[in-house]
Amino acid sequence: MEFEALKKETVLLNPLKNMERRSIPSEIRKDPLTGRTARICHFMKLSWPKPDFEKMTAGTETNCPFCAERIFEVTPHFPPEIIPEGRLTLDDMVLFPNLAPYDCLSAVATLGARHYIPMTEITADLIGRGFSLAMSFFRRVRDLKHHEAVYYLVNWNYMPVSGSSLIHPHLQVFSSASAPNIMVEELIAAKRYQDQNGSNYWEDLIQSETNSGERFLGKTGRTTWLSAYAPFGVAGDVLGVVEGAASTLDLTNQDLFDIGLGLTRAMAAYDDMGIYSFNLNFFTGAETDEFTRFHILFSPRTFFNPALGTPDIGALRNLYNETLCMAYPEDIAGVLKPYFE
Ligand SMILES: [Zn+2]
Repeated sequence: MEFEALKKETVLLNPLKNMERRSIPSEIRKDPLTGRTARICHFMKLSWPKPDFEKMTAGTETNCPFCAERIFEVTPHFPPEIIPEGRLTLDDMVLFPNLAPYDCLSAVATLGARHYIPMTEITADLIGRGFSLAMSFFRRVRDLKHHEAVYYLVNWNYMPVSGSSLIHPHLQVFSSASAPNIMVEELIAAKRYQDQNGSNYWEDLIQSETNSGERFLGKTGRTTWLSAYAPFGVAGDVLGVVEGAASTLDLTNQDLFDIGLGLTRAMAAYDDMGIYSFNLNFFTGAETDEFTRFHILFSPRTFFNPALGTPDIGALRNLYNETLCMAYPEDIAGVLKPYFE
């Protein structure tokens, strides 16, 4: 397994120190699977001031469509040929069609009746049950042999910084025959890797990262947690790979809670840096794609300038899909690892 990095150096003169020469390092890394590049640059301490959450969330429950007093009035039903009972529920969690669908079978699942859950109060049990509700939707559409029942995906935008338009925690749950960009690249590359090497890329990655230990964070059940080598997020990414599972439907109920546990550890670590928002995606193969492994990517989201509300995604990332991370993923691993022990 090759972890390629191109090291660079910028020299500038500092007017505050009599034009002393200053050298600033940076690095361009290649994702070992796809070759996608990620820049490690713009180094800064991974620490942000936290806002006043009470002020931020105040009044947002007044018209919240996901709060208990409104959810059964305002959220739509699936047609009977998809879900005969209209919606799916698990305890106080509700899954219903997305009013703004991005695919044919597009749902939203609330993570319960509570309007605002601080990141540190999200439990493994809550995540496990939320994923479990999503799984019951996926099994339904699989059993229907729906033509879009190929890739079973969950996205989670937690808090507005990550792209969420509501405070009330909820998952985007969808099933599609059209795999999203990065996932397609990964699937093609993982298939090629298997054909060329006769082994599974993800199992090899687990082995290699566990042996080197540089980015290894820990294990929960059969999920291995790593600080991603070429992250998307400015504060790194936490990658969880499930051994032996090729697709979402291979996950057992125990896997869902084990994934939940790992995620709460990542959340605790990033909370201590002042981060309170994240994106999370499922990456899966189709049911017969034995060349891949189910993995989950947790990417913390923050601001470049919290006072101005400057997001952490600019032209470089938005239009080139070139990512930047403000610390070495190995150093980030050093910060995260104690939380996983
Ligand atoms: Zn609400």
